Amino acid sequence: MVLLDGKKISQDIKDELKEEVSKITQDGKRPPHLVAILVGDNPASQTYVKGKMRSCEYVGYSSTLMRLPSTISQEALLKKVETYNQDPDVDGIIVQMPLPDHITPQEITQKIRPGKDVDGFHPLNVGLMTLNFPCLMPATPSGILELLHRYNIPTKGKHCVVVGRSRIVGRPTSILMSRGGNPGEATVTICHINTPPEELKRICPQADILIVAVGKPDLITADMVKEGAVVIDVGINRVPSPETRSGYRLKGDVEFETVSQKASHITPVPGGVGPMTVAMLLRNTLNAYNQNLATVGEIIPE
Ligand code: NAD
Repeated sequence: MVLLDGKKISQDIKDELKEEVSKITQDGKRPPHLVAILVGDNPASQTYVKGKMRSCEYVGYSSTLMRLPSTISQEALLKKVETYNQDPDVDGIIVQMPLPDHITPQEITQKIRPGKDVDGFHPLNVGLMTLNFPCLMPATPSGILELLHRYNIPTKGKHCVVVGRSRIVGRPTSILMSRGGNPGEATVTICHINTPPEELKRICPQADILIVAVGKPDLITADMVKEGAVVIDVGINRVPSPETRSGYRLKGDVEFETVSQKASHITPVPGGVGPMTVAMLLRNTLNAYNQNLATVGEIIPE
């Protein structure tokens, strides 16, 4: 069994980016600049944003963390986004989700200029991605493809089952796996909340590549996995753990102990898809800076 080491691959990508940034600054140009907007004080969001800012510093980007109170109005938040849209020294903008209930996330997502939308959530980028045009792609799905690419895992003609259909993970991942390209060209089945449990148990063992993004610890057990399958576990769940100082530990959606004995390749949690997401966000920021809307691997039009 091969462990798909997202921590190592993301470090490799960050080192590659660092080198590119040092060439840019040696040429006397300013480095790429990422702005992260954090609304409120959700502890998990604070941890994620801080990680992103630390990674910016590592690769040599400028970064701005704009903290706003949870009471901010939607209108004021939209204005803030517009300020950064207009700022020529800002290349990428992210608004950390989730947002307080009085703010509609789609309104904010659609306000970010598509060329600065380094999370790849704007409908224009989603459309371009779906039609197989260069664009800023969502970070977690492109991180999954990058892992498959760097481990030379063939996807063409394989049966890929994606469990979960969220806008940020499951659905874009299913599109990327089915569209032309390498990675891509897979036969894709999507399961979701309305897939009956017995159907999930019938479909998952058919997967050559099983990608799970649900948010339910141990949803996928060994009986649901084919011998030799590639298993990508996107889930990040906090489960109680008396042994740790924080009182919890992180667990994926896949029962790692048993599934890893059947899989040919599997991502650990933590240290699998999570670090890849940050690396791809940084790559998107450089692409936005270069106005070079590249993609993962090779694009082959359908
Ligand atoms: P979400 O809540 O938006 O979507 C969950 C999806 O799971 C939905 O599409 C739903 O239909 C489906 N689902 C729910 N119960 C199901 C069931 N019993 N059977 C089949 N499908 C079911 O979540 P999300 O934002 O896509 O995140 C999913 C998980 O991935 C979470 O644990 C999240 O923390 C994690 N995540 C990780 C990263 C990363 O970088 N590793 C990034 C984003 C999300």
